[in-house]
Amino acid sequence: MSARSAVHGVFDLAVVGAGIVGLSCAHAAALKGLRVIVIDRDAQANGASVRNFGLVVVAGQERGAAWNRARRSHAIWQQVAQEAGLPILQRGLWVTTRRSEALPLFEAFVRTEMGVGCEILSRAAAQARCRELVGTEVQAVLVSADSVRVESREAIPKIAAWLEQRFGVQFLRQTAVMSVELPLLETSRGVVHAGAAVVCPGDDFSGLYASRIAGYNLTRCKLQMLRLASPGFALPGALMSDLGLLRYAGYSALPEAAPLRARLEAEQREHLEHGIHLIVVQNADRTLIVGDSHHYAATPDPFANERVDQLILEEFAAATGRPAPVVLERWMGTYASAADRSMFIDAPAPDVRLVMVTSGSGASTGFALGAEVIADLFGGSAA
Ligand SMILES: Cc1cc2nc3c(=O)[nH]c(=O)nc-3n(C[C@H](O)[C@H](O)[C@H](O)COP(=O)(O)OP(=O)(O)OC[C@H]3O[C@@H](n4cnc5c(N)ncnc54)[C@H](O)[C@@H]3O)c2cc1C
Repeated sequence: MSARSAVHGVFDLAVVGAGIVGLSCAHAAALKGLRVIVIDRDAQANGASVRNFGLVVVAGQERGAAWNRARRSHAIWQQVAQEAGLPILQRGLWVTTRRSEALPLFEAFVRTEMGVGCEILSRAAAQARCRELVGTEVQAVLVSADSVRVESREAIPKIAAWLEQRFGVQFLRQTAVMSVELPLLETSRGVVHAGAAVVCPGDDFSGLYASRIAGYNLTRCKLQMLRLASPGFALPGALMSDLGLLRYAGYSALPEAAPLRARLEAEQREHLEHGIHLIVVQNADRTLIVGDSHHYAATPDPFANERVDQLILEEFAAATGRPAPVVLERWMGTYASAADRSMFIDAPAPDVRLVMVTSGSGASTGFALGAEVIADLFGGSAA
């Protein structure tokens, strides 16, 4: 039998893409007792899902469906982490502000349904919890409890291994899927038989279902990321600054965001032009993952701009009141982006779904999305 005609078995579901979205679909299907195969062209996860902060964030997600998905995903992440032996490295999110204009926004946010589990700390109260982190310029902190952080570089391979061992999900790596004509998937290493397929291609717009993807007017977003040496203390949670209040729609869509926006446009125009907002998360060895920036293009250039890194590090210093530790690593990531939606589920054929997260929120919403897709294909509830 030639490699192309080799048959890899018969499955209820074939998932294309082993990033967090594909793994989430495989997980939901495995929970139903379905026979699942996951196919990915890379030898190991290499896309957005391992380049990100690993921050599963609820507070700040767009009000409505995205926020609800993040809440459900947050709950599933905790179950998966426990069962797969995956350490949760941080819990909680601190959004610090250095501007008085953010205070009415904090208060307005806490009054909405999205404020559940959130509290506003004065500078003194925040300092009492973490003296090292709260610089002299910080005026207040919005703390939300419902955020968890994993180290994606370890978590994504570990979830795949757990799905394999616990549920018998099969993984076919270094294998590109060229076409889906159910019950057959034509791959670079032979044919797979499956009753249904979910395609989760990340930011590959020109492979499977390229003409349908073209209808969504997508572009790509490029982000610069840094790993810094340990600051010598443990953060009380993931950290953001004022810029995050404009970046995350759950805050920025509230009318009370307008005065803060005007002030940041006057004071931090260069940061905003590069789409910079500050996220800081911490690893078990206390090193920090710090980012990020947002540049949009059909094919983003592969070059990391040093000025962008400087601006990110300046924001770190301003938000924490301490100089940024030495840079240990730099990398870039890209994700699919749409101006008018944070995700979509398309149905190019009756038993096929095309699933793309078109915002930087796949780690936060993926598990809920996977449950919805599998409920849609196989019936039952996504809850
Ligand atoms: C720098 C950065 C930071 C981020 N931070 C966060 C964060 O903290 N929190 C958060 O919620 N989100 C974050 N995001 C967004 C999040 O990482 C993405 O939304 C998510 O990872 C997308 O997952 P995915 O599975 O769709 O894509 P990917 O992880 O890119 O996986 C897609 C996979 O599909 C495979 N593939 C594609 N086509 C084929 C084919 N034809 N055949 C075989 N294989 C194929 C690829 O090889 C790839 O492995 C961040 C993103 C980046 C880049």
